[in-house]
This record gives sequence, C-alpha cells and structure tokens, in this order.
Amino acid sequence: MEAGQLVVHYQPKADMRAGGIIGVEALLRWHHPEHGLIPPDEFIPLAEHTGLIKPLTMFVLEEALSQCHAWREDGLEVGVAVNLSMRNLYDPHFPDEVQRLLRSWRVEPRYLEFEITESVIMADPQRAGAVLGRLSALGVGLSLDDFGVGYSSLAYLRRLPVTEIKIDKSFVVNITNNESDAMIVRSTIGLARSLGLRVVAEGVESKQTWTRLVALGCDVAQGYYLCRPKAAYELTPWLHSLPTPPSLHPFFGEPPRSRPSVDEVCRRLSAAERIPAAPSTVAP
Ligand code: C2E
Ligand code: CA
Ligand code: CA
Repeated sequence: MEAGQLVVHYQPKADMRAGGIIGVEALLRWHHPEHGLIPPDEFIPLAEHTGLIKPLTMFVLEEALSQCHAWREDGLEVGVAVNLSMRNLYDPHFPDEVQRLLRSWRVEPRYLEFEITESVIMADPQRAGAVLGRLSALGVGLSLDDFGVGYSSLAYLRRLPVTEIKIDKSFVVNITNNESDAMIVRSTIGLARSLGLRVVAEGVESKQTWTRLVALGCDVAQGYYLCRPKAAYELTPWLHSLPTPPSLHPFFGEPPRSRPSVDEVCRRLSAAERIPAAPSTVAP
C-alpha cells in the first residue's frame, strides 16, 4: 500500500431498462514491481489468512469514497460498490469505521454498496447478520454476490437486509446455449422480483447474452461487453462521453411505467465499448 503498488479499478453497472450507468464496482489490482500484475483471486485469499484484509478493505473503501466524492464534484452521479471479506463481516468495529469514512468524504450512504458472498454470510450467519444489520441501518446498499453458487434458501434470504442480488457469471456466460442455466437465471430474477430486490447479471460478455438477459427481465448488467474494469482516470472520460449521464436511481421491483425499447436503451449506452447495435428482435 505504501509503495503505491495497489490500485483500484472500477467496472460500471448499467441499467438495462433505461440505459444508463447506475454505479461502479471497485476491484483491487496489485502491480508488483517484479511479478507484474497479480490478480485479486491470488492475493485476496492470502490477505484473508494473514489478517491483512482489514487494512486492504479500508484502503479500497477510502479510495472508492474519495473517487465517489470527486465524481460528484465533477457532475457524475456514480454509486460505488466495495467487496467485503469474511473478516470484515465479523468485525464489530467495521460499521463505525464505515460511518466515519462516509462522513469524512461527505458521501451519503445511498452512494455506497457492499458486495458480500453467500458463503461468507453462511459461515456464521448470526455474527454476519449483526454487522449486516448495522450496515443496513446506516443506509448503505447490500448486494449478495456470486448468487447461485451457494445454498441460500428463500426463507433465509428474506431475513437478510440485502438490496441487490448479483447472479454469478458462471450462470450468465452460458444462458444463450444452456437452457438449465437460463432457467436458473430466470427463476433468480423472479425470486428477486418477488422480494423487491434489484438483480444484476455479472460477466456479460456478448451481445447475445445482453439481449437474452433483457428478455428474461434482468435489471442491471455488468461485464466486458459493456466495459472492462478501468482506472478512474480512464473511466471518467468514458462516463462523460455517455449520451445519458450516470444516475443513481435504485428501482426496486416494479418496472418503470413507460419503458424505453431495447433500441433506445442501446442508444443511450452507445458510447459503451461494444454495446448491442439495436437488436431488432428479442428472443423469449
Ligand atoms: P467478483 O466480486 O465476483 O468480481 C467480478 C470479477 O469478474 C472481477 O474479477 C471482474 O474483473 C470480472 N469480470 C467482470 N466482467 C467480466 C466478464 O464479462 N467476464 C468475465 N469472465 N469476468 C468478468 P477480478 O477483478 O479479477 O476480481 C476477482 C475477485 O477478487 C472478485 O470477484 C472479488 O471476489 C475479489 N476482489 C476484487 N477486489 C476485491 C476487494 O477490494 N476486496 C475483496 N474482499 N475482494 C476483492
Ligand atoms: Ca463483487
Ligand atoms: Ca461475482
């Protein structure tokens, strides 16, 4: 951290229904002077074992909040999502530290969201539930990450103060050629809808997947097809170039009354890297 080798990249989340960016996910990168770029999947588990994950999370959180503040000063209404580890969720001091940072960066809690995997919650649901409850009381969003790979029951989900479900990319990647994966995505969307939660599909890599997700009723998409994770200095001009400015408008459950066509949504995201060029038909 001190040597400046850690960098936070940001990947946008797009509203598939209205066609705008609603926020970004903060993803940590380690630029090692000898070994080059080390992916988070390699060093995060190590940091979890050694206890270094706490300072790492605080580093990412502070970077994300200062960036959120800077974007808003720059006229960009962008929410930030930060990934949490088990140790954060079992740390009774964590919610106070979050509150302190929100105040010092003058960011309203609704601009912040935490992404937590089911396995982290399920390892000790009671302790995790206590910290989640306090985070939720602060007014920050809580997203259930990698949904589908764990074992959350409907009954258990209802008791958690989550605001968003993120369907794991392993299901999303195959929805155009694997009917059972498509069925899992469809039923997850139905489940989220009935609980009043927003649904995000991660790992959207192609036009076909985007189009199918729209047909399945998905709210939000994230993936290489729209935009890869980028450093803030690269993402900021990208956000400014969008025809529709980013806007934080969490819609829970009900679709907007007058819903724009898929073509219109694509037009609004036209500055995106490879967003579908107005698909003419949407497969059921
Ligand atoms: P995650 O939270 O599930 O993040 C999504 C991962 O999918 C990211 O990998 C992202 O770059 C990648 N991704 C995004 N779009 C696509 C796509 O279209 N296709 C494919 N195949 N992948 C896509 P990344 O950045 O390598 O991060 C991997 C994991 O490391 C994250 O998975 C998260 O669990 C963890 N991680 C990253 N940053 C942090 C952090 O600050 N704190 C903690 N605790 N974990 C982090
Ligand atoms: Ca995540
Ligand atoms: Ca994930």
